[in-house]
Amino acid sequence: MLLILLGPPGAGKGTQAEEIANEYDIAYISTGDILRKAVKENTELGRKARQYMDKGQLVPDELVVEIIKARLMDPDCKNGALFDGFPRTVEQALFLENALPDLNLKIDRVLSLEVEEDDLIERLTGRRVCSDCGASYHLKFNPPEVRNVCDICGGDLYQRDDDRLETVQERMEVYKKQTEPLIEFYQKRGLLSTIDGNQEINEVQKQIKNILEKL
Ligand code: ADP
Ligand code: AMP
Repeated sequence: MLLILLGPPGAGKGTQAEEIANEYDIAYISTGDILRKAVKENTELGRKARQYMDKGQLVPDELVVEIIKARLMDPDCKNGALFDGFPRTVEQALFLENALPDLNLKIDRVLSLEVEEDDLIERLTGRRVCSDCGASYHLKFNPPEVRNVCDICGGDLYQRDDDRLETVQERMEVYKKQTEPLIEFYQKRGLLSTIDGNQEINEVQKQIKNILEKL
């Protein structure tokens, strides 16, 4: 099974992803997580990507395509994958479309999470992320049980550099210009399901599961 979580930064993709991937026994692939790890480890990829990420811009398609090609070869992708934050441009979507037949995969559903821009900004500026496992929390909407400590692995929580207000505004613009066209792209292919991302986290999860049960 191959699923894509589409939506603007802060829509709740990462929050929903792990549970869906576990339920369907498919790999969870977040290009943002892969890139942040590369930056932290100061690899060649990380050094190239950082300049774009710090500014809230997209990393060049060539780099992202290489990440995906390599990642889809991993054994945990044998049953498929759930993409979070990929594809983010029409070029990336076309690459994926062309690469899938050789891998005996096809896209089953694109889940588009919709949230108003003002709410997105509040979500992103209040987001806190685990430095060990990447789990996502919110100071107000989804606080951890113990302040600044991850409920899942006990890691320290931190604020992503690109979640500061100035960068968040740039990321919103980048989303509108480069990623939003993918809604129409997948609608035309009959693959799109739209989800109201303004509901409580559990409600969003339920709505996603309802859609996937009918596949
Ligand atoms: P994305 O992966 O789409 O960028 P996240 O899943 O990291 O977004 O969510 C962004 C922020 O919004 C996080 O702080 C998260 O805790 C919070 N959040 C996620 N879903 C909801 C929701 N349904 N209602 C309120 N806050 C949410
Ligand atoms: P995310 O964790 O999905 O919010 O991504 C954080 C940052 O990583 C983005 O602002 C981009 O700079 C970069 N990034 C993640 N995924 C992609 C992608 N598919 N294409 C280009 N850049 C990406």
